[in-house]
Amino acid sequence: MGWVNLISCLLPDPAVVRLETWGTEHAPPTITLTLTSRSRPASCPLCSRRARRTHSWYERALADLPWGEHAVAVHLRVRKLFCDNARCKRRIFTERLPGVAAPWARKTARLSERLTAIGVALGGAAGARLGHSMGLAASRNTLLRLVRRALLPPDTTPTTLGVDDWALRKRHTYTGAMRCGMPQMPECLPRTAR
Ligand SMILES: [Zn+2]
Repeated sequence: MGWVNLISCLLPDPAVVRLETWGTEHAPPTITLTLTSRSRPASCPLCSRRARRTHSWYERALADLPWGEHAVAVHLRVRKLFCDNARCKRRIFTERLPGVAAPWARKTARLSERLTAIGVALGGAAGARLGHSMGLAASRNTLLRLVRRALLPPDTTPTTLGVDDWALRKRHTYTGAMRCGMPQMPECLPRTAR
């Protein structure tokens, strides 16, 4: 196996990105990878229509899991595409590569997952200390933010729906309340008292 094939095996989600260039620096020890999206059809995040026309390319800078003593810096080239759905409000969008990194993230998905696991196990301050010793540098606040995001319940479709009447003040203000089968504030529908 050649160097390029070996490195390609270690990429985040090699099915959707390919290695363009790579290089190393010694101080501090860093491996820099330039990756490019494999230009598969992408769906508009607003209307889900498949888009094939490329508007432009832009480069994202991401931190990845370290390789031995080397930090890994990823330059990820992704496409901006036209949405050709005339009814869609989004004219141009950036393709999503969820297996590589979340939109706007500055870390790869697998690095974020590793840091989240550390944060859940140890919390912010102790997690940050362990992370630094393992080459997974992240601040206390970053770990806590990742943990909070991981602990948020996923959006789910309500399984039950109920409608109740209740009064702010007897015979004066009645309100209809719709409650769904999830822990959230009910929607209140003001109604004239009878
Ligand atoms: Zn669209």
